[in-house]
Amino acid sequence: MEKNSSLRLVRRSPWLFHFNSGGCNGCDIEVVASLTPKYDVERLGAILTSSPKHADILVVTGPVTRQTLGSLRMIYDQIPEPKVVLAIGTCACSGGVFRGGYNVIGGVDKVLKNVICIPGCPPNPRMIYSIIKKFYENQLGGADENGSSKPEKE
Ligand code: SF4
Repeated sequence: MEKNSSLRLVRRSPWLFHFNSGGCNGCDIEVVASLTPKYDVERLGAILTSSPKHADILVVTGPVTRQTLGSLRMIYDQIPEPKVVLAIGTCACSGGVFRGGYNVIGGVDKVLKNVICIPGCPPNPRMIYSIIKKFYENQLGGADENGSSKPEKE
C-alpha cells in the first residue's frame, strides 16, 4: 500500500469523533465553532458522532497525558480502518504550553499514526473547516514520513 494512502481513502462524508486528551478547552470551543452556522462543516457531510465505531476521523484536542493515553488508544483502536487523526491546536501537535510537564507525553503524533496537525492556540475554525473540506474534496496529501501533515496556507 502506498505511503499515506489512508488519507486518500476517506472518500465518504467524514464523520468525526472528538476527544480532549488534556487541553484547556479553548480548542474544544473552536471545534464546536466549526460546526455552528458560520463555518458549518456539516454542509460537507461531516458530523460529530458519539461512537468511535462510526467515525472516520479522530479529532484530538490538548496534549497527550499519562492519564489519558489509555483512553486515547482505546478510542483509536475502535475506529475502523482507514482512519485519520486530526490534532487540533498546538498542544495536540506538540504538547504546546504543557510540554515538559511531569504528566505530559507530548503531541498526538508521538502515540498515534496518520496525524494531521492544525496548529494554533487555539486554531481558527476556518482552518478546521478547510481541512474537513479537503477530505470532502479528496485533495489531502503531502504528509511526511511520520504521517504528519500541515494544512496549506489560505
Ligand atoms: S492549543 Fe491553546 S487553546 Fe488549545 S488546548 Fe492548548 S492552550 Fe488550550
